[in-house]
Amino acid sequence: MSQDTASFQDFKLNKQLFNAIDDLGYQKPSEIQVKAIPRILNGHDVIGIAQTGTGKTAAFVLPLLMKLKYAQGHDPRALIIAPTRELVMQVYENILELGKYTDLRTVCLYGGIGPKKQAQEVAEGCDIIVATPGRLLDIYSAGVLQPKQIKTFILDEADRMMDMGFMPQIRRVLELLPMKKQNLFFSATFPEKVEKYAYEFTDFPEKVEVTPETMTAELIEQSLYHVPNFLTKINLLKYLFENEDFSRVLIFVRTRKNANNVYSFIERKISEEVRVIHANKAQSTRINAINEFKSGNVRVLVSTDVTARGIDVEEVSHVINFEVPNKYEDYVHRIGRTGRAEHHGIAISFVDPSDVYHINKIEELIQKKIKVIDLPKEIELMDTLPSEKKDMEQEIDRQKHLENPDFQGAFHEKKKKNLSGKARDKAFGNKPKDKRRKK
Ligand code: ADP
Ligand code: MG
Repeated sequence: MSQDTASFQDFKLNKQLFNAIDDLGYQKPSEIQVKAIPRILNGHDVIGIAQTGTGKTAAFVLPLLMKLKYAQGHDPRALIIAPTRELVMQVYENILELGKYTDLRTVCLYGGIGPKKQAQEVAEGCDIIVATPGRLLDIYSAGVLQPKQIKTFILDEADRMMDMGFMPQIRRVLELLPMKKQNLFFSATFPEKVEKYAYEFTDFPEKVEVTPETMTAELIEQSLYHVPNFLTKINLLKYLFENEDFSRVLIFVRTRKNANNVYSFIERKISEEVRVIHANKAQSTRINAINEFKSGNVRVLVSTDVTARGIDVEEVSHVINFEVPNKYEDYVHRIGRTGRAEHHGIAISFVDPSDVYHINKIEELIQKKIKVIDLPKEIELMDTLPSEKKDMEQEIDRQKHLENPDFQGAFHEKKKKNLSGKARDKAFGNKPKDKRRKK
């Protein structure tokens, strides 16, 4: 079955699901849906890899709903894990839409709000749980969750779930589940080093891959500017606001601190309604910010990578990498927030001298050169702040050291000679600079 000729009717789904698909206006299945849905219905373990915005959620939700059919018993029969609260809610909403003609009961578990109501919902009985791993384990500890009937285990953004930060929790979750179950992993990127972890969960997964994992969505026009520093980036941003048609723009930064900085600069210098989200914001604030952005009330959202993955906001016209991500897969996820579901999108990256290294790595990953645009003459070039300059120099030293372990830092070699790049990062983490010297 090729995608051109494929129709949802080719899948062994039921009337309730076909009707929901019609209501959503989906005309034909996407390629990943064509490849994954029959395999999942046949009971295989599946690793599904496809570009962002290509309907991976429905690729696992439809066959799941088909298999579960209707509300049954008290204990959940399927568990879907996703990395962020926002993504959990989004998958939950997809299940509600696609399952609207079924009576299946879905419960959503995530942190940031009290666990009481969520625990009660589980206690009342459900068929599907969608959860972040931390809150799932909390609810389990509270004693209300009986996981032994869970026969389908799904990881969305699977590579993120299997990275070092989450893997310990995922292992604990797995210990609670029955040995025999169907395992489904979905993501836009699935690096080889992560794939080996997948074999902790499953022996013979079928890997279905729609495009090479690193191919960035074709509908996204990518470009970059070389910009000397933070303040000049702000000027460039202001210029773009005045000269580009930003109908809905998502601005990515690396740290919470810079998220707040960029946010307040936009408010002050560009006087644009803007929202900011990062992991330190209260849950209600995060949800409100996303909802306002989704509804079009505000057209600018500044974010760290917590939202880079999976969040489906229709018609994001521009993604701006105010800072280049140093986890290179995140570039693919970030820009994948635009150009979704066959809309055209634009991704612009601001590259400072210490980012050049990272952007080269990203180009290797996506196997594509990103178009360089000259900084418009109107943009006032600002001086680099001393602290920023120092950070950049240190970062560039670190990069040189990564490429050549014999490299001895140009400036501060005596002080850091004995530390490898990693150890140095760790040692210097967030410590104030004068403390660094004593090391
Ligand atoms: P991914 O997880 O692959 O990044 P999503 O599952 O979030 O993508 O889907 C992206 C968008 O595409 C959603 O708005 C979804 O409703 C829509 N979509 C999913 N399947 C189809 C389809 N077959 N036809 C049209 N739109 C679809
Ligand atoms: Mg997704």
